[in-house]
Amino acid sequence: MTAHDYETVRYELPEPAIARIVMNRPEARNAQNLQMTYDLNAAFDRAAQDDAVKVIILAGADPHFSSGHDLRDGSRDRLGKDLGPVGTWGGFGLDGAEGRFGREQEIYLQITRRWRNLPKPTIAQVQGKCIAGGLMLAWACDLIVASDDAQFCDPVVTMGVCGVEWFVHPWELGPRKAKELLFTADTWSAQEAQSFGMVNRVYPRAALADEVMRIARRIATMSSFALKMTKEAVNRSVDIMGQQQAIDQTFGLHHLCHAHNVLKFGTVIDPTGMPGAVAGKPAKA
Ligand code: ZN
Repeated sequence: MTAHDYETVRYELPEPAIARIVMNRPEARNAQNLQMTYDLNAAFDRAAQDDAVKVIILAGADPHFSSGHDLRDGSRDRLGKDLGPVGTWGGFGLDGAEGRFGREQEIYLQITRRWRNLPKPTIAQVQGKCIAGGLMLAWACDLIVASDDAQFCDPVVTMGVCGVEWFVHPWELGPRKAKELLFTADTWSAQEAQSFGMVNRVYPRAALADEVMRIARRIATMSSFALKMTKEAVNRSVDIMGQQQAIDQTFGLHHLCHAHNVLKFGTVIDPTGMPGAVAGKPAKA
């Protein structure tokens, strides 16, 4: 196996046809800061541009896949300087809703769409907690394979916002469960996620990595061009059903919530409903 490390992400080639990108901030439950966002992007690009790689695994260093966006990240000012951009929106340093809208367009919407459209099969290998922004990472992948103790949650309504930025909840959970799980901020299990069709397969935690490799090896036996065209066919079908327009429309509602919170509380998320761990800390995004 060869490996190439980024600051917050390990890039591994367990076999020439299989790249494994491992989020590596276990001390922060793999919370996604700006550095990790662009490390992930560089690693995805590396795998996309390596013609030998046919399947890409996205994993998180134990014990948890991802606790979501790092609300304590103090590196916002690096955006558009030494980190990014990959999109064209710009205006990251501007005041008011304009700057915030530009930043979230870049780091949450356009970059997630970029990973979702990467023309090779991707597999999210999810163990432990997969919370809020962590869901965006898993949902951007083609397959989600989870450990039997994996737990999923989008608690963003408790922060006065209508869900995370990449709003595919109705597609991933079904409209009725999406409403329930957003309204209540309840956690759902790997088994429930599989029953919704959000998770492909569930394995005991000790077997997860080996089972994901087994699936990746099987996919890697297929023609790379047929895989590319198949992914494109499914993604385009979902796009024709309106998924991308829905994401763009709900992003506007998400930003109305941020703007409302700024007017009412002086921070982009409602501090009265924030989890204790981040209470009193103004959000950066
Ligand atoms: Zn936001």
